[in-house]
Amino acid sequence: MKLEQVNKTFGSHQVLKNISLDFPRGKVTVLVGPSGSGKSTILRSLNILEKPETGTYDFDDLQIDFSKEISKNDLFYIRQKTGMVFQSYNLFPHFTVLENIIEGPIQVLKKKRPFAIKQAKELLIKVGLSDKANAYPEQLSGGQAQRVAIARSLAMNPEYILLDEPTSALDPELELEVLKVLLQIAKEQQSMVIVTHNLAFAKRVADKIIFVEEGNIIYDGSVENFFDPDTRNARISQFISSMT
Ligand code: ADP
Ligand code: MG
Repeated sequence: MKLEQVNKTFGSHQVLKNISLDFPRGKVTVLVGPSGSGKSTILRSLNILEKPETGTYDFDDLQIDFSKEISKNDLFYIRQKTGMVFQSYNLFPHFTVLENIIEGPIQVLKKKRPFAIKQAKELLIKVGLSDKANAYPEQLSGGQAQRVAIARSLAMNPEYILLDEPTSALDPELELEVLKVLLQIAKEQQSMVIVTHNLAFAKRVADKIIFVEEGNIIYDGSVENFFDPDTRNARISQFISSMT
């Protein structure tokens, strides 16, 4: 999937400045940059939770022109292909873990209940929570809740999973259990776009890194070059030292 010449303004504030980005399939793309630089807006545009004023968004053979109205069909297509995982989990509080995971597949994808349950149980094993199927969200730690949110997203079988600072609400110990799950999923060639402040994690998980600042793409390339003190530019060096 690919964005080209995308512009997004809130009021008089231009938040994305003619950005073009490619998100390779089967790979992990990590977005980093200071707070307020536009990372969430990029992620939300990929899920069309935000609609930029201009630019295009290519997904498979579909091209969305942001300057035009987006049809219901196109919106449905993009929403099905991209699953969003938020910092704040957004689980349904009155549903058990299992019910949270099967809700989308049954209601939206029209899967049969036994199929959805079987799949949900497999996903719970994958995220290390097979014993929590009948727990309610309030009974979970933050790290467990976020792993359920990841399982719920995978249950919708999206091509890309979009994660917006998935661990920034968590203590380091709980963060680690979520990062381990993401590393495992990455190994299975799940296409992902991850916004994170954890540069050590970025270095391990990313196939490519994008550095965003004030709505501009300052860097878009390999992990090796990004972290290489000999080749990176001064601004990136400064950012890396401010984060570590
Ligand atoms: P990041 O995720 O990198 O911290 P965001 O994409 O959330 O940055 O925000 C980029 C800029 O856009 C910030 O200055 C933010 O205040 C502004 N912004 C984001 N969403 C809105 C909104 N709904 N209304 C007005 N301004 C917004
Ligand atoms: Mg953000």
